Amino acid sequence: MGVSITFLGGAGTVTGSKYLVKHEDHKLLVDCGLFQGYKQLRLRNWSPLSVAPNHITALLLTHAHLDHSGYLPLLVKEGFAGPIFATPATRDLCRILLPDSGHIQEEDADFANRHKFSKHSPALPLYTRQDALDALPLIKAVDFGKTFSPLPGWKATFSPAGHILGAASILLEVAGRRILFSGDLGRPDDLLMSPPADAPAADTVLIESTYGDRIHPVENILLELAPALQRVAKRGGVAVVPVFAVGRAQALLHAIHLLKLKGELPSSLPVFLDSPMAVHTTHLFEHHPGEHRLSKQDTQALTHCATMIQSTDESRALAARHGPMVILSASGMATGGRVLHHLAHYAGDHRNMIILTGYQAPGTRGDTLASGHKTVRIHGRDVEVNAEVVQLQSASAHADANQLLAWLRTLPQAPDQVYIVHGEAGPADTLRARIHRELGWRAQVPEQGSTWPT
Ligand SMILES: [Zn+2]
Repeated sequence: MGVSITFLGGAGTVTGSKYLVKHEDHKLLVDCGLFQGYKQLRLRNWSPLSVAPNHITALLLTHAHLDHSGYLPLLVKEGFAGPIFATPATRDLCRILLPDSGHIQEEDADFANRHKFSKHSPALPLYTRQDALDALPLIKAVDFGKTFSPLPGWKATFSPAGHILGAASILLEVAGRRILFSGDLGRPDDLLMSPPADAPAADTVLIESTYGDRIHPVENILLELAPALQRVAKRGGVAVVPVFAVGRAQALLHAIHLLKLKGELPSSLPVFLDSPMAVHTTHLFEHHPGEHRLSKQDTQALTHCATMIQSTDESRALAARHGPMVILSASGMATGGRVLHHLAHYAGDHRNMIILTGYQAPGTRGDTLASGHKTVRIHGRDVEVNAEVVQLQSASAHADANQLLAWLRTLPQAPDQVYIVHGEAGPADTLRARIHRELGWRAQVPEQGSTWPT
């Protein structure tokens, strides 16, 4: 019996990453993400996995973003008790992100019950903050480059993927097969993160394809951000910036800091980081200096260039302030979190601005805003959008199509096959065709739930 992979998520969509590797009696899961975006995708979080959680023997995480780690609390609640291996920064980030995810789900369920807009009564959280806290002790940290044994006879090695703090590609070796999971790959020219490491030799490669059909413009984030913030500051407006608490929040803070230093933004322009998670993450940059490009001074400046908002009272008080000001708040695709209150409050005024900072998955509010819709549904009501919407093209934490191919070219020799994952149907298929045409390798886009040999 060979080694097989079942695609339990992250197949034909960017979210829900879950890849089950089976050999003999052992089942190992790589990533354990939440589905996000369209309702039919989110509903998948509620249907049981095709494998019983207590039959999974070990778990490896590429990184801490919720579409890779956010299902973990539920997996543990439903019986998974094996070890979870991750890099030290991923473990630290999970300690911030997962309890918060549980908390948001409890809040959303509460809110739906109070305002009775849920079709289920009572609305229940997928999992709670406590469920997330219960899962955390299973996470064991392993450094980049150190080969370890997640299961008897299996070997695994993390290498830097350059996407966010702690983000790894994973080489898994079992029964003579080498399977390489790219994880989310960063861009080599990122403002914040060091570039991804070259790919090691592998027989089977799973590569992400978020931007499989796109080339990032050469534009840099400072050149894009400066005119937008100058415009909104001049008209006394408020810029609401939905940010991923991990990664983009810090990139934006760093960019604003540099623009103020260069005199391109008034140093008096008030900036608020309204996300306790993003505040905590910003401090983690000090603990993991080897993974990013920031100097010690830059890292310190990150924590000083904005007013850090912690409590919900402070967050609410922001609504009483007038512009000009900049509010960075999670979540990055406006799927939940405090940014929803700011959007509901500020989107109606044409002097204001909404700045979208990275990939907006189809079906998310961020995607609705990016497509120019004049209303967006928040907490059960339609909010008018008169504010200027700006989408930064340069703020993505993902490699573009050329950079994905360049990473594949670093493999010392051609793999037997490539599976294209973590992308919508269009980008995934475009990347498949390019891999076939330009590298001459066998590549396919697996369907959700399908099982393939390695
Ligand atoms: Zn990610």
